[in-house]
Amino acid sequence: TSSRELEPGTVVTHHGTELIIETRDGVLRRGKARRTLGALTTGDRVGWHTGEDERIVIEQLHPRSNTLIRPDTHGKPRLMAANIDQVLIVVSSKPWMNPSIIERTIVATLDLPATPLILLNKIDLLDETDPAIRQEMTEALDIWRQQGIEILPVSTKTGVGIPELKAALADNVSMMIGLSGVGKTSLARCITAQASKAAIQALSEHSQEGQHTTRNSTLYRLDDLPGGLIDAPGVRDFAVAAQNPQAIDRAFPDIVELAAGCRFHNCTHDQEPDCAVRSAVAEQQLDARRFENYQSLKRERVR
Ligand code: GDP
Ligand code: ZN
Repeated sequence: TSSRELEPGTVVTHHGTELIIETRDGVLRRGKARRTLGALTTGDRVGWHTGEDERIVIEQLHPRSNTLIRPDTHGKPRLMAANIDQVLIVVSSKPWMNPSIIERTIVATLDLPATPLILLNKIDLLDETDPAIRQEMTEALDIWRQQGIEILPVSTKTGVGIPELKAALADNVSMMIGLSGVGKTSLARCITAQASKAAIQALSEHSQEGQHTTRNSTLYRLDDLPGGLIDAPGVRDFAVAAQNPQAIDRAFPDIVELAAGCRFHNCTHDQEPDCAVRSAVAEQQLDARRFENYQSLKRERVR
């Protein structure tokens, strides 16, 4: 089959070797892929045609912009999703969490590579947050904002920020991550199209292999918008070392800029004399926590 006859589609989810594909017209259909294509995953863009039994046959896999690979319950690397444009890092204003963990997630997002968007959920609880913690939160958020990371305060309770969130998701594929209890399920309910959920559910239930497999990631469409949201069960955080050292520097452009002033061009900001980065920490121009986190991310890389 020549590629000119193939129809474009996107993998919405899979059950074993059985795939659910969204066609260009937004219709969901079941099908299988040629074995030579290897394992396909949610978010994959494919070329297909209709086979003899009215089922879709996938003949072509388009190059991926990125892949999300996580260890499964046995520690084996597993392909979870592909072509993720944006990672929604969900945190809550109460309880607030360790900013260094959020920073690690920013590094891992840039490492994919994808664009991070921090959703500060439960903004309705901000007034109840302890003033000292609120101070720490504001400082961390301000630093990230200054480094060009977008932060969106939202509340699934009051609806604050939900229209802005929908706009931010309108024309790309996003994935949501965050600790348990921050509000991922509630947010997904606010923005994903019920029709998309129902259709995927119906097709999944009739799939031959569905009953025997653990739940895989699924691409949902948004209400009235072309954007998509990938739900990857079990992917809560990216607490792994970045594969690409540039991703760490991209998340810390302020430190990279300071490092240009160190005496040694390869300064590790550890013991060297005339270290501009350590000086900045001493003069409180650079947040000490942020510096420590940068150093420990770099050390993990070296190991
Ligand atoms: P998940 O574990 O990240 O999926 O979090 P859930 O969506 O299950 O939410 C955890 C709890 O936080 C639930 O009791 C929600 O009702 C509550 N919650 C979610 N969003 C908000 C919010 O914006 N404000 C407040 N006050 N509570 C929220
Ligand atoms: Zn230095």
